[in-house]
Amino acid sequence: MFEILEKDLMGRIGVLETRKGKIETPALAPVVNPAKNVVPPSEIAGVGFPLLMTNAYIILKNYGELGAELGVHRLLGVDVPVMTDSGGYQLMIYGRVDTTPEEILRYQEEIGADIGVILDVPTTLGISREEALARVEETLRRAERALATRQRRDMHLVGPVQGNPFPDLVEYAAERMASLDFEVYAIGASAQLMEQYEFPALVDTIVAAKRHLPPGRPVHLFGGGHPLIIPLAVALGVDLFDSASYALYARDLRYMTESGTVRFERLRELPCSCPVCSKHDLSDLREMPREELERLVALHNLYVLKEEIDRVKQAIHEGSLWELLEQRAQAHPKMMDALAKLGDLAELLERYHPVARQPVFGLFFKSTTSLWRPEVYRHSKRIAERYEPPEADVLLMLPETDEKPYTRFGPVSRLLSAARERGERIHLVVYSPVFGVVPVELSELFPLSQYSLSEYLRRDPERRALRGVVEYLARHRGRYGRAIVVVDRELVDLDVGALEGEVEAKELELRVVESPLSSADLEEILRAAST
Ligand SMILES: [Zn+2]
Repeated sequence: MFEILEKDLMGRIGVLETRKGKIETPALAPVVNPAKNVVPPSEIAGVGFPLLMTNAYIILKNYGELGAELGVHRLLGVDVPVMTDSGGYQLMIYGRVDTTPEEILRYQEEIGADIGVILDVPTTLGISREEALARVEETLRRAERALATRQRRDMHLVGPVQGNPFPDLVEYAAERMASLDFEVYAIGASAQLMEQYEFPALVDTIVAAKRHLPPGRPVHLFGGGHPLIIPLAVALGVDLFDSASYALYARDLRYMTESGTVRFERLRELPCSCPVCSKHDLSDLREMPREELERLVALHNLYVLKEEIDRVKQAIHEGSLWELLEQRAQAHPKMMDALAKLGDLAELLERYHPVARQPVFGLFFKSTTSLWRPEVYRHSKRIAERYEPPEADVLLMLPETDEKPYTRFGPVSRLLSAARERGERIHLVVYSPVFGVVPVELSELFPLSQYSLSEYLRRDPERRALRGVVEYLARHRGRYGRAIVVVDRELVDLDVGALEGEVEAKELELRVVESPLSSADLEEILRAAST
């Protein structure tokens, strides 16, 4: 029913089969109003959205029996899968709805929704913990009843996880909901967090739920329709989004960009090449009747959302989702805080993040935020917990070089082959401002074999190279008779003063050779190693 094809961080590309056809995820379902919509649903589907979301409660109230006769697809005039909400949103906004959980579930089945949602009781910001817990329990009761009373197995049913803004309640709700057999799970009440730019809290909520939800099932984020949060949410394992944002923003003439929104009257250019923006210029748009302008802004917003989803999918294919998150982190300070939170979650991310991928794309380390990647955590953990050096008399520590793998290029390769030719028992370990230390025998494995870093990181701003060398020497000093640390400031600006200060030459003869590495220097180093 849901097949996962590719992974990056906790994100994935998958295929969800529905009665009406396959949905490739991550996917965003624009929310359409069955009664009137600023952009007709068929035109929205035409933009390339594989799923639409509409509200079964509104259909029930406006169309009743007729809705069931026509079916939701004919009502909307579309031939793509349709997901229906059940009035939970109305319950959240107005405090009550004029239906029952049983009635609205049956109605979703009757109108032929491809994905239906039980009538949950959303938790919202500002409610007490007791009230939130009561709503979580009520949602769980309704979830159990819905599974027992559903009649159509060909409509996927969504089990919503409530409890936000209390992460422990979200965890509790997710754990309980996960024990119930829903085809799709959803994370609730995040729209408020997003409107208030509380991205770090959004990370907490999604992670709290994802820790417990079955990894093989798709997860929907209710109301997650701002382009800025799409890469973040996908990186945490969200597969489906719904959003009315394209229309809500258009109502206020807010023009979406990949990193935020701009008020239409403040636009001096149209920084977009979607069909709307390439067909019109700003002066045309300014002359238009307000209703037509709203329609075109909504359509533009849809193209921006579609493009962001496609960009995220391409990033997953390339394994560059982290790089996309770094770009988005530049758009808002809270987005950077959210990225830092992912850095703190490296252990969790590492469990999901694929070890190898095909085809291989090299990793780019640009700034200190790149050092929070799960690959870095994975390597450091391995070196600290499971690494045993081979037998050797001399430890030779060299700065990392631009070319990778080190064993095939540059000074490491030359020293390695010279040492082998002479039968020297020399162990080469490369130090890196990114990975700390990389024993040469591991350096041909991805991603150690293929990465590049900025000049800025060569200065070892986080002192990872320094710490790597110091810790390695401390951990393995009994193994070698002597250690030689070669310093080449052009390659890695290792703080020699700090190194000598931190490494007590007990049990180990330590020599530091400072040099840009010429052939003569390499000879010199080899001679030093063999005498
Ligand atoms: Zn546009």
